[in-house]
Amino acid sequence: MGAGRFAPSPSGPLHLGNLRTAILAWLFARSTQREFLLRIEDLDRVRSGAEATQIAELASLGIDFDGDMLRQSDRLPIYLEAVERLKARGLVYECYCSRKDIAEAGSAPHAAPGAYPGTCRNLSASERSAKAQNRPAALRLRSEVNEFSVHDELFGDYTGAVDDFVLVRNDGAPAYNLAVVVDDAFSSIDQVVRGDDLLSSAPRQAYLATLLGHPIPSYAHVQLAVNAKGQRLAKRDGAVTLEEITEQGVHPANVVAVLLESLGLPSTSLQAALEAFDPANLPREPWIVEPENIVQQLMPRASGN
Ligand code: GLU
Repeated sequence: MGAGRFAPSPSGPLHLGNLRTAILAWLFARSTQREFLLRIEDLDRVRSGAEATQIAELASLGIDFDGDMLRQSDRLPIYLEAVERLKARGLVYECYCSRKDIAEAGSAPHAAPGAYPGTCRNLSASERSAKAQNRPAALRLRSEVNEFSVHDELFGDYTGAVDDFVLVRNDGAPAYNLAVVVDDAFSSIDQVVRGDDLLSSAPRQAYLATLLGHPIPSYAHVQLAVNAKGQRLAKRDGAVTLEEITEQGVHPANVVAVLLESLGLPSTSLQAALEAFDPANLPREPWIVEPENIVQQLMPRASGN
């Protein structure tokens, strides 16, 4: 049996967009008889207390998980061990570039915009030690491809750039792309459902999985929640976190109902939505949330109208 997962970064309370993605990931997993796992991606951007809040919030919506929760900060040696395996095959090199260096170097010919230009890819030992005087090294993957294709259940076939992306940052922390791939394989996750801001990362992750000898999971990247201007839902949009919404007297069950409705699903309960769930019928547009009246949208239900 495979598994799906929800993998929040504990950078703050969950907002409506994250919660909608969590519900979708749960529906995808449960409707395909998969386990559903929780992983806390706390390698950076951690806010104290956010992990506990997020866990409580997911439970308050009725999203249940199987198995043990994984916390990335507990697993640092495991990521570095994967890097060692790649290193042994000559697939890792030290990079001393700052962001500014990379921006100034521009893209290599034929490379995707923003791709690492390869400045440090073929340094001699003496060039390396000269550069090492100024900055600690990050470790990059010596990619043998420029692009990689994945299949996404909602977007269809998707080909995206694969550059020499960072595996270990220059402060020694494993990079997000590495940790995700190692953890998904470790937990036998074969279904990745997450926000479509990560669609462009899927080719890098799928390619890295292949290099590490792991199967590529199925992908479904779901449209994010946006405000009326089409911008990703954020603090500026008013009460968008579950915390802020429930503080104003809205019951979490009403939040679930609105989220399910936005997905074109029966809104009476998660169970009813699960019975009706068919990815083919999901909306293919972003969910537009009107900033000023999120709570108003939710309140009438709270008072039983
Ligand atoms: N931790 C990431 C986020 O909260 C999600 C990573 C993933 O699902 O692969 O945006």
